[in-house]
Amino acid sequence: MLVIHGLWLPGDSSTGGLAVWAEDSTAPIPASRSGRPARERPHPFAAGHTDLAAVLADAAEPTRPDTALLTLPTLAGAPTDSPELIRTTVAPAARGRLTLAGWRVPILVYAPDDALSLLQALDDIPAVSGATLRHLAELADFAGGGRDQSVSLFLPHPGQDAPVVPVEQGEDWFGGWRALPADVRAVLRSYTIREHRPADTEVDIDFVSHGDTGPASRWAALAGPGDRVVLLGPALPDNRSVCFRPPDATDLVLLAADETALPAIEGILAWLPAGARVRAWIEVPDAADITDLPTEADAEIRWIVRGSTPPGSDLLVSSVRAARLPTGGTPYAWIAGESGVVRALRRHLVDERGFDRRRVTFAGYWRRGLSEEDLRAEALAGATA
Ligand SMILES: Cc1cc2nc3c(=O)[nH]c(=O)nc-3n(C[C@H](O)[C@H](O)[C@H](O)COP(=O)(O)OP(=O)(O)OC[C@H]3O[C@@H](n4cnc5c(N)ncnc54)[C@H](O)[C@@H]3O)c2cc1C
Repeated sequence: MLVIHGLWLPGDSSTGGLAVWAEDSTAPIPASRSGRPARERPHPFAAGHTDLAAVLADAAEPTRPDTALLTLPTLAGAPTDSPELIRTTVAPAARGRLTLAGWRVPILVYAPDDALSLLQALDDIPAVSGATLRHLAELADFAGGGRDQSVSLFLPHPGQDAPVVPVEQGEDWFGGWRALPADVRAVLRSYTIREHRPADTEVDIDFVSHGDTGPASRWAALAGPGDRVVLLGPALPDNRSVCFRPPDATDLVLLAADETALPAIEGILAWLPAGARVRAWIEVPDAADITDLPTEADAEIRWIVRGSTPPGSDLLVSSVRAARLPTGGTPYAWIAGESGVVRALRRHLVDERGFDRRRVTFAGYWRRGLSEEDLRAEALAGATA
């Protein structure tokens, strides 16, 4: 039986894609050796290209065979078995210290589109899927709903290589994460999917840089290629983290937000159909933040550049208050940004403009002077009071 493992090769469609290799449970168990393993040797029980291609043939066509050098846990001169590998012959217990060593394995590389087919067909493949491949399949399963689709991002603390999230606890991960010391467990923050490219298993997230005042802003300012985060997102397009939901018969959509919700507004405008009437107010720090927002909707967008005015001021509220809007009809409003501003806008629309409160979706994306942990603690205290 083969245990198939996967790794994503960064690069364009000719160099990047999904690389798979496999351990073969029927290969002879390598004799135990003492001493340090050579820096780079052929993996003794990796499956060859032909065996690998034979079990994956029905799922997708590889673009090319190749080899890869993997750094793997090594004991007594041989790579250790992955937890998924079950052998019929039990090896004698190896002694010594577990180290890391380079092992060369045959790989098959799949172009991004074929990789998706392969990951989606895992259940039908006559082989065992290793944890790396199942993890990639979960990523391929990510299915955002567009619009203001938000996700939870887990970020490492300074000095950590990767965010600490006990994903191995499965459904119980949240309790496990909360039980860890605050300076160890990953920083949890909410962000919006600005663009999702399923064929490349890629998403774009835009971070507002508000200086060294918060761990997410700090992390984003220093992040580089290869830095690791954990993303918790939906597997179904119709999920609770899509909040922009205009009721039937909406004849006017109002959008009001600051720059933290610019990715959401971009997603909403891209989603709205031709002919939908939209009035949008977007506050940004600088004129250079004004950007093209492609849409088929009939959208009138007002940019408010705040310049030296601190974020969270009443600029956005004043601008909406000064607008002439059609009376009557069935408008729907979506508001996001600094919590105090969002509250004031909602009050203005409902109390002063007579909007039906069920037709106003509002979300405080951040609050002046409070971190996201403070906001979660406040929400929890409110829920249990
Ligand atoms: C559903 C949802 C979607 C979101 N999507 C996005 C997104 O796509 N892009 C994005 O940039 N943000 C987004 N946000 C907002 C983001 O989660 C917050 O700004 C978050 O507080 C940033 O974390 P931090 O670690 O940088 O700061 P925190 O540690 O949370 O806060 C530290 C300090 O920074 C201040 N602060 C936080 N955010 C800002 C800001 N934007 N400007 C000025 N001061 C600030 C706080 O008031 C606090 O005083 C979203 C929030 C929600 C709820």
